[in-house]
Amino acid sequence: MTDRRFFRQECYIAGEWVGPNGAAGDETVEVRNPATGEILGAVPNFGRDQTKRAIDAAYEAFPEWRSLPPQDRARYCMAIHDALMDNRDELGELLTIEMGKPLPEAIGEIAFGAAFFKWFSEEATRIYGDVIPSPWPNKRIILTKEPVGVVGAITPWNFPSAMLARKMAAALAAGCPIICKPAIETPFSAFAYGVIADDIGLPKGVLSIITGDPAPIADEFCENPKLRKITFTGSTAVGKGLASKALAHMKRVSMELGGHAPLIIFDDADLERAVEGAMISKFRNSGQTCVCSNRIYVQAGLYDEFAERFSAKARALKVGDGLESGIQQGPLITEKAVLKVEDHIADATQKGASVIAGGKRDHLGLTFFEPTVLRDVTADMKIMREETFGPVAPLIKFDSEEEVVIQANNTEYGLAAYVYTNDLGRSWRMIDALEYGMIAINEGVSSTPVAPFGGVKGSGQGREGSRYGLDDYINIKYALIGGLEK
Ligand code: NAD
Repeated sequence: MTDRRFFRQECYIAGEWVGPNGAAGDETVEVRNPATGEILGAVPNFGRDQTKRAIDAAYEAFPEWRSLPPQDRARYCMAIHDALMDNRDELGELLTIEMGKPLPEAIGEIAFGAAFFKWFSEEATRIYGDVIPSPWPNKRIILTKEPVGVVGAITPWNFPSAMLARKMAAALAAGCPIICKPAIETPFSAFAYGVIADDIGLPKGVLSIITGDPAPIADEFCENPKLRKITFTGSTAVGKGLASKALAHMKRVSMELGGHAPLIIFDDADLERAVEGAMISKFRNSGQTCVCSNRIYVQAGLYDEFAERFSAKARALKVGDGLESGIQQGPLITEKAVLKVEDHIADATQKGASVIAGGKRDHLGLTFFEPTVLRDVTADMKIMREETFGPVAPLIKFDSEEEVVIQANNTEYGLAAYVYTNDLGRSWRMIDALEYGMIAINEGVSSTPVAPFGGVKGSGQGREGSRYGLDDYINIKYALIGGLEK
């Protein structure tokens, strides 16, 4: 690493760097570079005690933090934005070595996360209240907006910096202290926020970052009365369990969960554009994003030509260590992820699909996998129901608009969907008919801080980014003012 300043192996709790210190029950967890298998370091395996300590500090910091003029909270958010942008190369490198994505994508993720701090620094100053026309002549109805209080955030490894940024920026802007628990596979990009917090003089307790066994940390989040909201990004299975526990204690919850995005290409689409869109939406981050297209439906008239062009592009992708120049696809995060990819391919081929690109582990070994395209995929295959979370693109042939809408909606998920068509009427019909939180027409990527990110059905609830993103961190208070008569 060129700059080790951001590389910390301790948790950031209540404004202090805290290591295991040999205390009873404290251990560490090794973190590896998925591209090389090399051990990068070890981080604390904390549990309820340290989580409670972080919550206590956040609770103590809350009154002052919420009372700051929003312009001051905005300045802190902008300072984090500036620190991320000023150090995006170093932070990108750190992200690549712990997560594996190609360096340009990693640097892009740092900038993407920074953009949330900028966006919410602006939104912090626009948390307006409301006056409701009163049904009584001598009374007034006023609404004020208040921060929900201390927030606990749990995030996955696939966007180790930006998933935290989306939560942290909105919480801090709204006036909420936040405790972040990143995935144990990728703790270093999270700890880097602690270095930044120190650098910019963020008040102690407003931000803590803790690593450890997820279940006890989550239990403390759910059961500690000082913590008021849990925001989670991760799999649907874990999210459902966490949400039910959190609701048992009446916490506010936001759940950004799994996806199973359909990408639908109609005969009237611009084929080249559709191929490009499918490439980015499928193979970005080695297929490890919640909005990755997991089912590519192509109308019969374009099916063969699309399959040919798309598989040629997939075969041409350069796989390797994300730190090397020109690499377009890094490794998968773990061996377990590779096994799932192999299982989906085996199941599909046994049931009649054929591999027209890739299909096996890359010659580089470890967790590198060839970008893979399957054709003649049918609804009975596992890959059509479960998130693959890897570089496998299943192609399904369809005939009519009605038929593809039914198929596309036939899933427990509802996060993102993509449609390629040059028919304006059809675009609108698809926007209306698809049961997803986000629909992209003729585009393969739609995420931006200015638009609400989030899903429906098994993909969760709540929205991140946009002006709606603050609502998840705000309570509305109704005040009735009476006695106005003379
Ligand atoms: P995961 O659910 O296994 O883990 C996510 C986080 O939850 C990690 O921090 C993990 O340590 C923690 N966790 C694990 N068990 C827990 C428990 N019992 N209680 C509380 N927390 C627990 O998911 P993952 O494999 O890290 O990430 C991939 C998943 O995340 C995919 O399903 C993907 O679609 C989803 N994802 C969703 C979004 C979104 O915005 N909707 C974004 C990125 C990833």
